[in-house]
Amino acid sequence: MARYRDAVCRLCRRERMKLYLKGERCYTDKCSVVRRAYPPGEHGQARQKFSEYGQQLREKQKAKRIYGVLERQFRRYFREADRRKGITGENLLQLLESRLDNVVYRMGFGRSRAEARQLVNHGHFEVNGRKVDIPSYLTKPGDIIAVREKSRNLAVFKEIREASEGQATVDWLESDLEQLRGRVIRLPQRDEIDVPVEEQLIVELYSR
Ligand code: SF4
Repeated sequence: MARYRDAVCRLCRRERMKLYLKGERCYTDKCSVVRRAYPPGEHGQARQKFSEYGQQLREKQKAKRIYGVLERQFRRYFREADRRKGITGENLLQLLESRLDNVVYRMGFGRSRAEARQLVNHGHFEVNGRKVDIPSYLTKPGDIIAVREKSRNLAVFKEIREASEGQATVDWLESDLEQLRGRVIRLPQRDEIDVPVEEQLIVELYSR
């Protein structure tokens, strides 16, 4: 499975905003966007003016980076979003939100999407009682997500349980951090998705 392996803070600096890719560090003064609020590289501090295409491209890159998805898979999501009924941009975000790694993160079982993805990858989760180790697995309303019995005592889950308030972070999910399990109540509406992305620009980019 291909994934981005370079320094992730560069991605936030490129987008000139916090994308919260690292977890706890993102909320401290050590965050690179706090320390160096300009894009990386030799010309990072030069003034930049984006063309219409440039703006569309940046929105797409931002969405990919937030959800940790590479180009080919992102395009597949777009095609599927376009095929579905409704507003393509919203469908796209809904698809990205329903990925298992994102749902695990939103339920509070991972401190960042990257950590949630790794925990899924390492086989610590089950969906409706069956082990699923595919971060891109698309969950649906009614799905029960739980940490597998044999993984419940791992230090990482102990830390997560201790650090959290025991609440799901969003209304469309239910989660119980004591029991390490949760349920997808429904798919999110656009106003429940707090990612700073103008999805319409992504639709325009792919419709060129
Ligand atoms: Fe982004 Fe987090 Fe790094 Fe800050 S610490 S630049 S929010 S990944």
